[in-house]
Amino acid sequence: MTAPRTPTTAEELRGAGLRVTAARVALLDTVRHGDHLDVEAIASGVRDRVGHVSLQAVYEALHALTAAGLVRRIEPAGSPARYEGRVGDNHHHIVCRSCGAVADVDCAVGHAPCLHAADDHGFTIDEAEVIYWGRCPDCSTNRTA
Ligand SMILES: [Zn+2]
Ligand SMILES: [Zn+2]
Repeated sequence: MTAPRTPTTAEELRGAGLRVTAARVALLDTVRHGDHLDVEAIASGVRDRVGHVSLQAVYEALHALTAAGLVRRIEPAGSPARYEGRVGDNHHHIVCRSCGAVADVDCAVGHAPCLHAADDHGFTIDEAEVIYWGRCPDCSTNRTA
């Protein structure tokens, strides 16, 4: 028995029905290795890997990869959108009000939706998105020091 081979990033793009370009491969790798990166950080990661890519191209690629479900976009109120490669598990986020640091928070029950709406208004709900707000350890320390 041979273990199933992990698909390459290019194969994943193709499997999601996307055109494979060096910039898209670099972008997906950058998002997956990063930690809730914003567009600027992703653009610089892509440029480190493949050379100059316009910000517009980065936006377009992010849009395509998000629509295909390979990348998840989170948008805490008042802060720029962040992107991550951890998709499909309906995890939540905790955001620092002070510095904007973002961390993952797992679901209470581990599958979507992990919260039950008091009234579903007849919708078929498949996801619940929660953002916890507070201060990260660094910011709480600075504040009390
Ligand atoms: Zn902070
Ligand atoms: Zn996350």
